[in-house]
Amino acid sequence: MGEECIFCKIAKGVLNGHDSSKDDPEGPSGEPDIPIEKIYENENFFSVFDIAPQVEGHALVISKKHFETVLDMPNSLGVEFLDCVKNTSLKLMEEFSADGFNIVNNTFECAGQVVNHVHSHILPRKKGDGELKFVEKN
Ligand code: AMP
Ligand code: ZN
Repeated sequence: MGEECIFCKIAKGVLNGHDSSKDDPEGPSGEPDIPIEKIYENENFFSVFDIAPQVEGHALVISKKHFETVLDMPNSLGVEFLDCVKNTSLKLMEEFSADGFNIVNNTFECAGQVVNHVHSHILPRKKGDGELKFVEKN
């Protein structure tokens, strides 16, 4: 079996290969699990803070099922996707006293997609916080 993608692992709460449904404090690597703090979730999507935030409160909306890009995602999931984006953004605006936010979706490598599991970035913004250079071109 191939290596499971990092967002599929997070979706299951299984970082380090630990199955959170079982009473096992460590995964096969012997490392303790990293707890995953979900900001919001519904049946098919959840949001977490980005491990390398570009702004305070930088979060990711991630599908629970593995789809490589938004083009692979069925349209029928659109309502739930928007529900997760809106509820996550509202929570972030309140928690980080933001005045607005950017929703960014990097699709395919040339557009900056690194993790090949569909996700959107939510970037809380504040008045006068400067230009956000989100994708650097090589
Ligand atoms: P992208 O360039 O759109 O594919 O963005 C992938 C994002 O996932 C980057 O901003 C990474 O910092 C973030 N990321 C990678 N691994 C993790 C993780 N384990 N937990 C949270 N965010 C992650
Ligand atoms: Zn995946």
